[in-house]
Amino acid sequence: MKEIEKLKETILKEYPRLSGDSTFSFRCHKDVPCFNDCCGDVNIFLTPYDVIRLRKKLGITSGEFLRKYTISPFDDNLKYPVVLLQMQDNEKKTCPFVGKNGCGVYADRPWACRMYPLGLASPGENSAELDKEFFFLIKEYFCKGFGENKNWTVNEWMTDQGIEEYNKMGEHFKELTLHKYFRDGHNLPPKKIEMFFMASYDIDRFREFIFESSFFEKFDVDDATKEKIKTDDTELMKFAHKWLLFALFNKKTIAVRDNVLQAKQKELTDKDELKKK
Ligand code: SF4
Ligand code: SF4
Repeated sequence: MKEIEKLKETILKEYPRLSGDSTFSFRCHKDVPCFNDCCGDVNIFLTPYDVIRLRKKLGITSGEFLRKYTISPFDDNLKYPVVLLQMQDNEKKTCPFVGKNGCGVYADRPWACRMYPLGLASPGENSAELDKEFFFLIKEYFCKGFGENKNWTVNEWMTDQGIEEYNKMGEHFKELTLHKYFRDGHNLPPKKIEMFFMASYDIDRFREFIFESSFFEKFDVDDATKEKIKTDDTELMKFAHKWLLFALFNKKTIAVRDNVLQAKQKELTDKDELKKK
């Protein structure tokens, strides 16, 4: 993870910053001599929406997907959980989804794969003075796509790659990961990291957690929302993000039932009374 932090720093300091209207020349197709070379030995961070799309494509549960295809590195500096696609244990450390015809999950490929050769940096995450996202070009030495004669603006590339839907689905997650709590330099304690991981990435376990516990006795969730989140992964993902904002940062994104609030209030008053005695 330290290498990734270092790379982030270099990007913020040294990489030319691109806007939506900036242009670049690039084309990737089956006949380039480097075909598939970029799908190995690479750090691909997954978003919760990436996991939802991929596990659905593969027809497996979120838990199975996370166990089989991802790693979640943990170190003392970790602010919140991160999930990376696990490369295979072979000479080229290839992505588990790459085959001789290219990406085997192309229609559901992750956000980072769609963006390539563009990257997106958020200076606000690391620096107090700069608070504006920018795009940058990832120019791998082996990638021949830059020598091809096809011009794009950054915005055109993102439309072509279907990024808009992924960005929309990622807004809530972004709100969480760019929260002031983290920007002020705090890290979540391990138990809350586990909670964050379950609600963000392990969507089936989160569904089990809310439907098979006393969750709805504590939180006031209307029937229409309950029906939707029972079966719709993206609706559940949005609900999970709201719940995390409430549970981690006390944001009033979920209504607590009156009787639960009253019981809590009574508990606090009783405690105060005891202290006075
Ligand atoms: S290395 Fe570049 S040109 Fe080659 S397959 Fe990957 S993206 Fe395409
Ligand atoms: S998910 Fe697809 S595009 Fe992304 S690294 Fe794997 S094979 Fe390549």
